Amino acid sequence: QRKMSNEVEKASKSHYNNGSETIFDKIIAKKIPADIIYEDEQCLAFNDVAPQAPVHFLIIPKKRIPMLDKCEEHDKDILGHLLLVAKKLGQSKLPKGYRLVINNGKEGCQSVYHLHLHILGGRQMNWPPG
Ligand code: C5P
Repeated sequence: QRKMSNEVEKASKSHYNNGSETIFDKIIAKKIPADIIYEDEQCLAFNDVAPQAPVHFLIIPKKRIPMLDKCEEHDKDILGHLLLVAKKLGQSKLPKGYRLVINNGKEGCQSVYHLHLHILGGRQMNWPPG
């Protein structure tokens, strides 16, 4: 049997909780520190505390959207904005290429139920991801 990684284990213990507050709300409110690399009115980007690549940061909406599955038509603008910010930061920090990931739900390995884009790079990424 394959050993569960820390992240998989965390995700298996986590679940969607009716859109309740997460640790990312505290980061947005600056109640707990994060290594913030970009901020605008709609979103925040910060380095992941447990990087899975030489460069690994997250982009999160300031609006509390728990997961991709909970997005609606009216979230179109913020979803588009998150991708454009990913492009802007990816292009400048990782000109040779990068990977974007959205984990959704338990089997998608989501552990924090506040929507976030992972941007990973700084090495050759593999395919398929595990
Ligand atoms: O997609 P998933 O929900 O598994 O990702 C959550 C990510 O948030 C993890 O990569 C974890 O390391 C990161 N994290 C963080 N800062 C925190 C809590 C979690 O960067 N305070």
